[in-house]
Amino acid sequence: MKDYLIKRMWIDHEVISHYRVKKILQRLPEIKEVKEIFPERKVNFRELSFEEAKSTLFLTKFPGNFVKPCPGTGRGYLCCGYMVINQPVGCPLDCSYCILQDYLGRSPLTLYVNFNDLTSQLDRLTGVYEGKILRIGNGELTDSLALDYLGDFSSFFISYFRKKENLIFEFKTKTDEIREFLKLSPSPNIVISWSLNPRFIVEREEHFAASLKRRLKAAHLLQERGFMLGFHFDPIIFYPEWEADYEKLIDELFSYIDPSRIFWISLGALRLTSSLKQIIQHRFPTTKIVYQEMIRGLDGKLRYIKPLRIKLFRKVYQCIKDHAPSVFCYLCMESSDVWERVMGFSPQSNLHFRYMFEEHCKKVLSNS
Ligand code: SF4
Repeated sequence: MKDYLIKRMWIDHEVISHYRVKKILQRLPEIKEVKEIFPERKVNFRELSFEEAKSTLFLTKFPGNFVKPCPGTGRGYLCCGYMVINQPVGCPLDCSYCILQDYLGRSPLTLYVNFNDLTSQLDRLTGVYEGKILRIGNGELTDSLALDYLGDFSSFFISYFRKKENLIFEFKTKTDEIREFLKLSPSPNIVISWSLNPRFIVEREEHFAASLKRRLKAAHLLQERGFMLGFHFDPIIFYPEWEADYEKLIDELFSYIDPSRIFWISLGALRLTSSLKQIIQHRFPTTKIVYQEMIRGLDGKLRYIKPLRIKLFRKVYQCIKDHAPSVFCYLCMESSDVWERVMGFSPQSNLHFRYMFEEHCKKVLSNS
């Protein structure tokens, strides 16, 4: 049973008779509130509260480009050249720190039914990247698996990307919605990644997400089936017991997971825009995560002060390396001096970062 529920559906008039819409309606027979949206009668999404937006499913067609370079962050921080597929958009989970509250505001969960256009755009992209390594995922503006039961994203992306051996597709999730994966055979270029945090944070800040144990059990199950895994310690959050708790978390991770099945692990510390901070204070008045000392970084986002970021990363990195000395780790949106002080080296530029990643991917793919 999911902890998050769709309570109403809005359907764009243009797609009302699309077969995917019919399929989704069949999968949600309990929904009584279904509204057809006509272009001439504009809907004001701002009328929704965050809670309503997260339980409203909007089915429509996307007229633009689904595939974009990861926006990364501003100058001064290293980015790895990831590409993102914005399908679906919005997340029914409700992590207090989620940046989507600021980026997407109170837009409903949006699922685009024009998969054909997505396929043509991916075909064009794969043509351009023929023979080159590219990492791509759909977990930037959503949780990749939270709406899988409605949109069949896992079967779509797995069947598309398994034929494109040099393109590595990543699902990112905090759920254990892996039913579809259990019906599909693995492919070395398909990665399922879990975002992890200690129980203290999961229970207080990651509302409607699966418990830590459920995430690790799901990851274990997919590892047994032969899937490649990724893990994201992002955002790492500072609180009084963080050190012991992250150590325990990493011990627990490696009690479930064989390091040789891990494609990559990322580390990133909590980052907030000023407007996100205000939203969090308003929506989650009991949270303490916004009250730690932070500075405004070169990209305008609030971050922990550098010595604290280094301390957090060093601890998590060291614990990972104690269990898995050869696992590929990277820092997300960090400066090269932080890299140096945590890992003992740094990519020289974004291009170099991308090259490092490509070399790692080639190695993993050739060994699989
Ligand atoms: S799972 Fe990810 S996308 Fe969903 S609310 Fe949490 S941080 Fe946001």
